[in-house]
Amino acid sequence: MYDSFRDQLRRFAKEKVAPYAAKVDEEERPPMEAYEASRALGLPGLPFAEEFGGQEGDVLSQIITVEELARACASSATTVSTCWIMMLVQRFGSDEQKRAIIPPVVRGEQRSAWGLTEPKGGSDLMGVVTSAKKTAGGWLLNGTKRFITNGGWADWYLIFARTEADKFGIFLVSKQDPGVSFGAPERKMGLRGSPTSDVILEDCLIPLDRVVGDPVRGGEYIRAGLLASRLKYAAHGLGIAQGALDEAVAYTKSREQFGRPVSDFQMVKGMVADMAMRVEAGRALLLHAATLVMNNDPGAKKYASMAKVMCTDAAMSVATDAVQLHGGYGYLKDYPVERMLRDAKVTQIWEGTNQIQRLMIAKDVYAG
Ligand SMILES: Cc1cc2nc3c(=O)[nH]c(=O)nc-3n(C[C@H](O)[C@H](O)[C@H](O)COP(=O)(O)OP(=O)(O)OC[C@H]3O[C@@H](n4cnc5c(N)ncnc54)[C@H](O)[C@@H]3O)c2cc1C
Repeated sequence: MYDSFRDQLRRFAKEKVAPYAAKVDEEERPPMEAYEASRALGLPGLPFAEEFGGQEGDVLSQIITVEELARACASSATTVSTCWIMMLVQRFGSDEQKRAIIPPVVRGEQRSAWGLTEPKGGSDLMGVVTSAKKTAGGWLLNGTKRFITNGGWADWYLIFARTEADKFGIFLVSKQDPGVSFGAPERKMGLRGSPTSDVILEDCLIPLDRVVGDPVRGGEYIRAGLLASRLKYAAHGLGIAQGALDEAVAYTKSREQFGRPVSDFQMVKGMVADMAMRVEAGRALLLHAATLVMNNDPGAKKYASMAKVMCTDAAMSVATDAVQLHGGYGYLKDYPVERMLRDAKVTQIWEGTNQIQRLMIAKDVYAG
């Protein structure tokens, strides 16, 4: 079942996503062609419940989707999968929120984003200073969220804000709400087809029923959501690594030096073998972690972190080697590996940097 799903996604990515990957990178604009095509396939609604129009795609089908999209275009994979953050509303929101907000997101008519990171930091999640105060007229939000994927482009923002001294809530903020504005689009090294900006909340007053679940349990909800989303970020890195390996194999077979394809040279073969091993090791760990998450295994968290680090470190090293195997041409924008190398870097930084992931893995290992 998963094999045919993967084949379908691979064909889709090759035909509808890959042709625009260089263009959206060059033009630094959202991947609209790929996004519209993904809507036709129902991908923005993949993980959501059927009652809201979704496809109830499980964790494995989600990571396969992200991997195959990222293999063709990392920005397109980011744009589609960021909309799945509304699964937090399906899981923890009220019936009214689910009925009002999820169906348009599932249909891809409305887009979503999430705001955790702030100018003072992303690693120290519990250090956020954005505040949400309950008033007679609604929740009053103040603060700035930094590096927000889909910032300015999304219709809905899940904002993580401090509600009490050491308690946090998650709030549904609409682009149309008073007091919401956006910073200039960030000019990035890679992932240029994925919009990123500040989300600025200045005396932003939203209705009382826009809090997701309990206003003091936001930290718990985020931690629960991070488990599955970490796997998607791992899959994103894995897709970039696989895409770079594909390019390196094709190029080294066609490029000739000393009267032979460079793929004939042992040193090249050794590099390609190492690249393939990194990709397969990442994929094996990711599939294992996904199975544990789907089975609600208590050990899943450590494996999700391990998969995130393995797959995203593979993205960076395989993309670097793919550029090397292209020689001087790998350094030119004419070849996809140049973009893949730039896209790979962020995967080690976001969703908990790989240093933070290593700290969490070590903590679990020492705890036995
Ligand atoms: C393109 C892009 C898109 C993003 N999209 C989103 C989004 O949609 N929503 C969102 O909320 N955020 C988003 N982020 C933010 C991202 O999650 C943060 O950048 C990331 O969590 C790191 O936070 P920081 O940048 O503040 O770095 P810092 O936390 O300031 O870290 C700086 C360095 O110190 C290291 N460090 C920090 N603490 C420790 C420690 N205890 N031990 C060891 N090393 C440590 C870090 O690993 C890092 O190398 C995005 C970022 C980028 C670049």
